[in-house]
Amino acid sequence: MDHPKRILIIYTGGTIGMQQTPEGLAPAADLAADIRHMPELGQAFQTHPPVIETLSYDPLLDSSDMTPGHWVRIASDILQRYQRFDGFVVLHGTDTLAYTASALSFFLERSDKPVVITGAQLPYAYPRSDARNNLISALEVAANMPEAMTQVCVVFGSRILRGNRATKVSAKAYDAFDSPRYPHLGAIGIDVEYNRRRRFPLAFGNFTKHGQLPPDDAVALVRLFPGFSAETLRAVCSSSQLRGIVLEAYGAGNGPSKNQAFQDAIRDAVRNGIVVVVVSQPLDGIVRMSSYAAGSALARAGAISGRDLTTEAAVAKLYYLIALGYSADMIAKKIKTPIAGEMRR
Ligand code: ASP
Repeated sequence: MDHPKRILIIYTGGTIGMQQTPEGLAPAADLAADIRHMPELGQAFQTHPPVIETLSYDPLLDSSDMTPGHWVRIASDILQRYQRFDGFVVLHGTDTLAYTASALSFFLERSDKPVVITGAQLPYAYPRSDARNNLISALEVAANMPEAMTQVCVVFGSRILRGNRATKVSAKAYDAFDSPRYPHLGAIGIDVEYNRRRRFPLAFGNFTKHGQLPPDDAVALVRLFPGFSAETLRAVCSSSQLRGIVLEAYGAGNGPSKNQAFQDAIRDAVRNGIVVVVVSQPLDGIVRMSSYAAGSALARAGAISGRDLTTEAAVAKLYYLIALGYSADMIAKKIKTPIAGEMRR
């Protein structure tokens, strides 16, 4: 008989375990203790229920308070306990869950064990809450994901998504996440069905050997809009710690090509060693900077195509590459190279 799977649940906070306070919903500590006594767990895993251990963070966080330091803490907690468990479930607030999912895919080494991130739209003690379903589905995937597919993934509502392709698409629906630029890894209905063509043969980086997380202000995110000024960009670039900018451009990666001051500001940023990565604003957009003159102008100024990277993955990947100690040239090169299934070749 197979030995029961050992799963570690890391409870970081988020709506899933929140309770009402005079200031509004805030994280509560009871969830971790309650999980082990959930009757549904026994029923969901009649044959081989997993052996579950929990690790609760103190303080528990609304994920809007998370920083890159928290990503690394979660990654380190997993790595430290890696040998003792068969899979990992991270309970997380939905607001920045896609950033953490992306970051874990980079900061963890290539893993032959599933790392599943989930949360909920309603606290677990609320009627019609999605918390129990999401938790049980996450445990199921952490225990039984096919070996060839093991990777960092988001399990939420009816979807299993690659972690670094996921983005939050709804503040209300139970299917709060989607991966509009990449097929789903699987679907959760009566059965848990895997899209077995989504194997995961890619090599991970190795944060444990090289990583030194840069200060938070090493990375900035800028979204273009009609009227966005060169002065605003120069103000962003004036931070002495800045090493990379994710530039959310229009459609296929276009920007204001007739605004010379804007082009100059990009060129100066790049000359000063700042890597400018262009991602697309539409949810299903893919950057092809040569499609339009307006995109070519950004490329000529030195900006780099992030192709189909999500904004979240672009931000996390920049932190990761900076943490590895790479030069601007090397970061620019590595940004274009898939390292954890985050972008097409
Ligand atoms: N503000 C919450 C959080 O991200 C929202 C949620 O969990 O749904 O922690």
